[in-house]
Amino acid sequence: MAEEQGAQRAYRAPCPGCGAPVEFRSAQSAFAVCGYCHSTVVRNGDTLSRTGSMAELFDDFSPLQLFAAGRIQDKPFTLVGRLQYSYPGGRWTEWVAALDGDRTAILSEDNGAFVFALPLELQQPAPPADSLRVGATTAVNGKSYTVTSNERVALVSAQGELPRLPEVGREFAVVELRSEQGLVLSLDYDTEPPSAYLGRAVELEGLQLTGLRDESAKDEKGRSLDCPQCGSSVTVTLADSKSITCRACNSLIDLTKGIGGELRHAQQNEPVQPLIALGSAGQLQGVQWQVVGFQHRMGAEPGDDEEFGWNEYLLYNKQRGFSFLVDAEDGWSLVKPTTGAPKLSGDGPAASATYLGKRYQQTYAYNAETTYVAGEFYWQVERGQKTFNRDFAAGKALLSMERSASELTWSSGDRMESAAVASAFKLDAKKDMFKRDDASPVSASSGVGCGTIIIILVIIFMLLPILATCSGSSGGSRTSGGSYGGYSSGGSHK
Ligand SMILES: [Zn+2]
Ligand SMILES: [Zn+2]
Repeated sequence: MAEEQGAQRAYRAPCPGCGAPVEFRSAQSAFAVCGYCHSTVVRNGDTLSRTGSMAELFDDFSPLQLFAAGRIQDKPFTLVGRLQYSYPGGRWTEWVAALDGDRTAILSEDNGAFVFALPLELQQPAPPADSLRVGATTAVNGKSYTVTSNERVALVSAQGELPRLPEVGREFAVVELRSEQGLVLSLDYDTEPPSAYLGRAVELEGLQLTGLRDESAKDEKGRSLDCPQCGSSVTVTLADSKSITCRACNSLIDLTKGIGGELRHAQQNEPVQPLIALGSAGQLQGVQWQVVGFQHRMGAEPGDDEEFGWNEYLLYNKQRGFSFLVDAEDGWSLVKPTTGAPKLSGDGPAASATYLGKRYQQTYAYNAETTYVAGEFYWQVERGQKTFNRDFAAGKALLSMERSASELTWSSGDRMESAAVASAFKLDAKKDMFKRDDASPVSASSGVGCGTIIIILVIIFMLLPILATCSGSSGGSRTSGGSYGGYSSGGSHK
């Protein structure tokens, strides 16, 4: 029953479970989930056999859907499969993309951030997962990477056709490494040898996507729950929030187990009043942001008793995901988690970090603690959460590192003029309250600077060799987005 379909080779055969047609658009696909009866099907040449039944998909509120099509580097791709995973910090989705005929790529999605990755053939076998400690650097295929996450993950559900299908619910290790050039390397230990994927951040707007999920279908209707502390109604507005605070009693409620069951929560005293109210909208650097979360954090340099405090606003935009607006004694800044991992050199005050070809000088190193939170968060925020932070600067550009026991995260961004922040949130009348110690004149940071354009060009040129060298005959099939949403925090600033 095989058939040819235009330029795209497709194979179609009846589902052994229900007889409905099951289609394979990619030669790389050995597995499929029947769209009608949810049978899992394995393809062996022209024979299909049923291996079981797939669990239901969870609603990931993705703007993508099966058969959405787009272009990357002028090559067409079609999303033919979807894999949904869970790890201790949450869930994420990977889309299987059939790329220009025979190759299979992975578009992984987490909290509005997307990475497009291709199978990478390893010149040497991957080291055992437990030898890759978070924060360590290691070389893979002659390139230097930093280990940024090491998690146990499990498949929750799948849809469409798939090059490989891990057993539902069975845990395996996924290690993620990032480079100072912004590359993301994922090692998946569900197969022997582990498979590797190499990718880079993409923005959906740049992929010329068609066939996206209908906006109205994914209208995020607020979900409601009763505060486990005071009983007040609490509304969760973002699809994937892991923590939320009650507006009546300030309790911090853990949403990682869903909102149906018993909710873990922690009481918070001494509420801090954010200068910019939760729910406010403002335009910064040409993007319309909504303030969804607020954190007060305290820091102290090692061996120093003197503490300092700063505030971080979590900003959300549907297309851009999350950013952090940081309000510190020495000024305002807007940062977002980086896709790659900058390279550190030197130690102490002379230390520097290099990222995307730019060198940043260390400005501060300190222990940080989150002391108060309000609003909702895409990670499991906790009061008393401790990290070690290092801040770096190159003129107006900032880079900062946060390290906890299980994660190493970086964010990058720019200083903002306090008056520009006040005016973005229509708080010009209060602009004196926004003034900080940033006496030195900084130019307005709106708009796309030369630096940004150069970085974009560098990224485009670096993706070219990745696409060219990843052969479709590789056995791998998926990559991890594991830590894209697992950040313990985004910003860290004195
Ligand atoms: Zn079926
Ligand atoms: Zn409450």
